Amino acid sequence: MKTQVLLENIQVSDLFESLSSAQKRLVLHVFSETLRALTSSFLRRGFTWLLPVVTSKATDPLWPDPVASIEARPELELYGERVRLTQSMILHKQLLVAAGYEKVFVLSPNVRVERRDRAKTGRHAYEFTQLDFEVKGAKREDIFRLVEGVLSEVVEHLEECCEKQLLELGAELEKFRAPFKVYRMKELEEKYGPDWETLASIESSEPFWVTDIPREFYDYEDLERGEWHNYDLILPEGYGEVLSGAEREWQYDKIAYKMRRDGVSMDSYRYYLELAKRGVLVPSAGAGIGVERLVLWLTKRSHIAEVQPFPRIPGIVTPL
Ligand code: AMP
Ligand code: MG
Repeated sequence: MKTQVLLENIQVSDLFESLSSAQKRLVLHVFSETLRALTSSFLRRGFTWLLPVVTSKATDPLWPDPVASIEARPELELYGERVRLTQSMILHKQLLVAAGYEKVFVLSPNVRVERRDRAKTGRHAYEFTQLDFEVKGAKREDIFRLVEGVLSEVVEHLEECCEKQLLELGAELEKFRAPFKVYRMKELEEKYGPDWETLASIESSEPFWVTDIPREFYDYEDLERGEWHNYDLILPEGYGEVLSGAEREWQYDKIAYKMRRDGVSMDSYRYYLELAKRGVLVPSAGAGIGVERLVLWLTKRSHIAEVQPFPRIPGIVTPL
């Protein structure tokens, strides 16, 4: 992936030109077929496809997460109540699973006000979509096998439907072998330093899993062993993280302890905590796949603006 960013490609005056270009049409065709393959793959595996919520009184705090770079959490007033724009549907997914949707997924638009300097990474947008899924009773390895199967099917589908388009884009489809390698975050940090995600991604020629990453309260933490049962999927060639997920916390005492420890406002999660206290939450595992980032990799583009019809680049608010 080219690291230099062609920011002139995403200036306001170029927006329509970019949208109407033949190349963008090729990319968006592959995007559409990726969505077809992803959703079909989850449906074939018995998942229920639900629609997202866009506003909510409680959303993902995105804190603490070592790679988060959120500079504001926009709120608006609806019917006299303060609500937030969805940052992720993690809490809603846990409640869906608890309500009996044993395998569920949502194509969920997330609004995250990333710092302006994130425009340069080529991988951050302030509005993007996750294929966010959750499975009751699942463990880390179940999710690994599920995602590896889904990705193989996506690539197979694109080989059949989009060979010509991908050739024109100069994008060779990835050949990868599952199961992917698994690393603990600490070992990558020791080898590559704090920028392990980018450096390990550049060095790798296949996707790989990273586990045991200290972050938000809802990821399961084995407090005795000091281990987190969570994971990221890292794409090769510098494309970096495309998925984050975890086995989940479901017990009230532990959730409350972790919120206090991490300085997360318990008041903002009153209803969720009340349900946890009543024993409503159940063990589950899941993840969110960043759909734009997946297509960025599949089409071998260098900036996320190239895969969004109306780019949402940190610091750049376009007229449409
Ligand atoms: P998270 O659980 O916060 O890691 O989000 C899940 C996935 O969404 C990530 O692995 C990325 O693929 C994608 N994602 C997160 N933040 C952004 C962003 N600002 N722009 C584009 N994609 C993102
Ligand atoms: Mg993440």
